[in-house]
Amino acid sequence: MYSFDYQRPADRAAAVAAIQGDARYLAGGQSLVQAMRLRLSSSERLVDLGGIAELKGIKVDAGSVTIAAMTTHAEVAASAAVQKAIPALAELAGGIGDPMVRNMGTIGGSIANADPAACYPAAVLGLGATIQTNKRSIAADAFFLGLYDTALQPGELITAVSFPIPQKAGYAKFKQPASRFALVGVFVSQGAGGVRVAVTGAKSCVFRVKAIEDELTASFTPDAAKAVKVPATDINADLHGSAAYRAAMISVMASRAVAAALGR
Ligand SMILES: Cc1cc2nc3c(=O)[nH]c(=O)nc-3n(C[C@H](O)[C@H](O)[C@H](O)COP(=O)(O)OP(=O)(O)OC[C@H]3O[C@@H](n4cnc5c(N)ncnc54)[C@H](O)[C@@H]3O)c2cc1C
Repeated sequence: MYSFDYQRPADRAAAVAAIQGDARYLAGGQSLVQAMRLRLSSSERLVDLGGIAELKGIKVDAGSVTIAAMTTHAEVAASAAVQKAIPALAELAGGIGDPMVRNMGTIGGSIANADPAACYPAAVLGLGATIQTNKRSIAADAFFLGLYDTALQPGELITAVSFPIPQKAGYAKFKQPASRFALVGVFVSQGAGGVRVAVTGAKSCVFRVKAIEDELTASFTPDAAKAVKVPATDINADLHGSAAYRAAMISVMASRAVAAALGR
């Protein structure tokens, strides 16, 4: 690794103030430190968010689940409150990576990183969540801009993510067996804002599929999702699967996500 300075502030204000030049926030380190070890990324200073109590915890009220940025995947998976309000979100968190990744990785780090195969972006977009930062609230539809690219400005700190509680939701992931990242993952929800279908792993950035949303609005059934043929245009292709294969898997995973949402 290239050498770097390390700071561990005790509050949000000190963390934001410490971000100067090419300094970066350090959350669970499960993406950032891996990239630095491979010399794919470097930073002269890391500002560790791990000592900031106000960035941890889960709150549930009548209409929403709000998860603070430094809450780990394992904490979301184990939360009885999340399991009751949005079981699909707890299940998604419990299916991320391996125990080390789940015990260290955080929701804020996952969303800020915007890995094209990550699971949380599908839940954020598929539930129509709101990302809260130290400066503003950002709707999910305006947050993910491209490959590892988000609407965050330099130094902007994610503080929490608020998920509206849907009537029904489900997540199905066809995973890369070694890493458990999504080759294709689909999050489906039915709630006050209608039906939302968000796909991860299949393009350079998480995206919604209107054709499946329209079919599920007419009939919220696994067969309705499976019947939609998704075009292979702009779909990822690599040694794990061709574009045509991944496009076909979108309908299959959407149908499994609907089945999960219906408890089948
Ligand atoms: C072996 C392995 C398997 C994995 N499998 C999966 C999987 O199946 N599904 C999945 O979704 N993910 C998977 N991951 C990724 C994992 O979920 C990471 O935890 C996540 O991508 C990054 O979270 P982190 O807390 O570790 O963030 P870090 O690595 O610490 O940070 C990532 C980026 O986000 C920025 N950042 C962090 N917190 C904030 C914040 N609050 N505000 C603004 N910017 C911030 C950092 O500066 C950095 O640029 C896997 C990782 C590994 C190593």
